[in-house]
Amino acid sequence: MKPVMETDIQYLPGVGPRRAALLRNELEVATIGDLVRLYPFRYIDRSTVQRIADLHPDQAYVQVVGTVQKARLFAKNGAELPPDKVKYNLANRLSVIIADDSGEMEVVFFKGIKWMHPRLAPGSTFLFFGKPTAFNGRINMVHPEFDAPEAAAAGVLTGIYPSTEKLKSGGITGKVMVKLVSSALEMVLPKLEETLPEYILREKGLVPLSFAYRQIHFPTDQNALAKATYRLKFEELFFLQLSLLKQKYVRSRNAVGLAMPRVGDAFNRCYKALPYDLTNAQKRVIKEIRDDLKGGHQMNRLLQGDVGSGKTMVAVLSSLIAVGNGYQACLMAPTEVLAHQHFANVSKYLAPTGVKAALLTGSTGAAARREIHAGLKDGSIGILIGTHALIEDTVVFKSLGLAVVDEQHRFGVDQRAKLWAKGAGGVAPHVLVMTATPIPRTLAMTLYGDLDVSVIDEMPPGRKPVQTLCVGENKRHAMYNFIADEIAKGRQAFIVYPLIFESEKVDYRNLELGYEEVIKRFPEPQYHVAILHGQQTAEQKAFHMDAFVAGRANILVSTTVIEVGVDVPNASVMVIESAERFGLSQLHQLRGRVGRGAERSYCILMKGYKVSKESQKRLDLMCATENGFEIAEEDMKMRGPGDLEGTQQSGLPISLNIASLARDGLILSDARTYAAHILEQDPTLEKPGNAVLAAELRKDRYVRKDYSQIS
Ligand code: ADP
Ligand code: MG
Repeated sequence: MKPVMETDIQYLPGVGPRRAALLRNELEVATIGDLVRLYPFRYIDRSTVQRIADLHPDQAYVQVVGTVQKARLFAKNGAELPPDKVKYNLANRLSVIIADDSGEMEVVFFKGIKWMHPRLAPGSTFLFFGKPTAFNGRINMVHPEFDAPEAAAAGVLTGIYPSTEKLKSGGITGKVMVKLVSSALEMVLPKLEETLPEYILREKGLVPLSFAYRQIHFPTDQNALAKATYRLKFEELFFLQLSLLKQKYVRSRNAVGLAMPRVGDAFNRCYKALPYDLTNAQKRVIKEIRDDLKGGHQMNRLLQGDVGSGKTMVAVLSSLIAVGNGYQACLMAPTEVLAHQHFANVSKYLAPTGVKAALLTGSTGAAARREIHAGLKDGSIGILIGTHALIEDTVVFKSLGLAVVDEQHRFGVDQRAKLWAKGAGGVAPHVLVMTATPIPRTLAMTLYGDLDVSVIDEMPPGRKPVQTLCVGENKRHAMYNFIADEIAKGRQAFIVYPLIFESEKVDYRNLELGYEEVIKRFPEPQYHVAILHGQQTAEQKAFHMDAFVAGRANILVSTTVIEVGVDVPNASVMVIESAERFGLSQLHQLRGRVGRGAERSYCILMKGYKVSKESQKRLDLMCATENGFEIAEEDMKMRGPGDLEGTQQSGLPISLNIASLARDGLILSDARTYAAHILEQDPTLEKPGNAVLAAELRKDRYVRKDYSQIS
């Protein structure tokens, strides 16, 4: 027989097949256990009764005690139906005026009118429970629950469960949910087994699981609720981390890697010729990579470093270790522009080493392509730089040992397979993925919980902070004048727009109009303005980009195509038009384009007339800090982890019921420490003492299957 928690929800008394389908479709509740773990998303203090006069639309759910003054029925066309001969089939809306000592308000029902109307008779008094809303300048409540006035003091805290219109019209109201949860608990709790080891409960002072389940649904007081919440959050994050870390252990045990015991001459020659000292962070990361490459296990490492932190150098030196051990390396960039730029930079660094690099992109001509293919096969090309073109089937290496992927989060399964198949002797190459999107620590531990993560948390010396300001349209002329001043000093400026062409719907500054305005203000021959957007051909892009990189163009007007990786140290101004349109991470990435040289740099956020509170908060934060990790943390708090850049492409690997990556960072690292400790002693969870943990992990609730590898 199945354990109670895994029993199909339809067998819970009061459910049955029809309601089961609703619960499954609307709330993803398929088993009794799912219902037990469907926690209230909010609690209401139902001992408090508000005065009608004090209600306002910003309030969440409240309750008032009101006496019915009038109950009127209206037809669809708005006409009142005669009260003497009630025809419910014509009634579209039931409007009830209720009153307490402080005032009157309307409560409205659109459904279940036939049932409600006779009960809400004038003169009768009820406890109404609902959300105040503003309608025609007055407060009303739509579809409140109502009950005898004595119900007010019944429970101190009442949980509110997620609900949908379909659930309600299918008869699963808030009250019904409470009953179902209550009977689920009755079935589950007597036989419930503890899922966490005794010593963790003791050390962390966690309440038993059965107490936690009961209190999370029906708390006796705030304190008990807090304990239950903490216990359930800990458990959720603990198993999540246990699962991720276990995958990591298994992978690192199984993944055979190409051994690269030497550092090699090429590395040393390049290192000695560097025009600057590496930062300590760069040195540390290179050592981490070096240790991985020696080891004989395949490296799967994520390198996080803010824009301008010097990741390219790390990629070059790592590639040279591969070359020094007789292997080849490839460096894959997300765009053609970036691939070109990498090629130019890397070639400079390679000059003293004699190692040959080649550039392969979608627009590489047939003849050049043939030559590259030959050079890869005979091993004369040591480092291949390019776009996705380099994982095509026709690209065959003599002995690929390391693949570096810049600015890209995760590959699809196919691409990953293709890349892995290119490794020397059929062994998967080592993989280093570099990202400039700072990911909050808690998210990195989860999203990349199964990977090794290196962080460059230090900028090269001599960088001046980018001064950021946010201004409105009234400062547009001043902004252009400011750009002119900077150009007069020999600097360059970026102007970035959210859209290419004018959109009728949204009033964002767009590239086409913007460009015209800019060339009017900055005319030839005194000035030269380059333009870059996604609808240009590769040649057009390269032409305009080169003009800006080489300093021939004073201004680059563009969409966000320049977002990633572009390096023009002489650019000192970044203007972002309709800045309210952009997310925090994007603004941060864009700002990172300037401040790369020795000069003082500026980021000007141009905002429109109408900016929401949320957007203003983002803009304020941008003006307040330059720390990418801080910005990412805030971004996650504002938008939730699911919307962050880097998680959008593939979604979060997990679904959390109660814990929040944005708020529960401390619990998360605590839980991770315990999980790591357990796995260090028993990586496969085979010891009898860990049987409960292994069983819990087998339930597969915690991590999405296809998410265990980065490449
Ligand atoms: P990102 O991490 O954004 O890819 P880059 O690798 O493009 O950063 O480096 C940004 C700039 O900093 C480049 O011009 C590079 O030459 C320079 N740079 C990198 N490391 C150092 C260092 N240790 N000291 C000084 N400048 C450095
Ligand atoms: Mg870069």
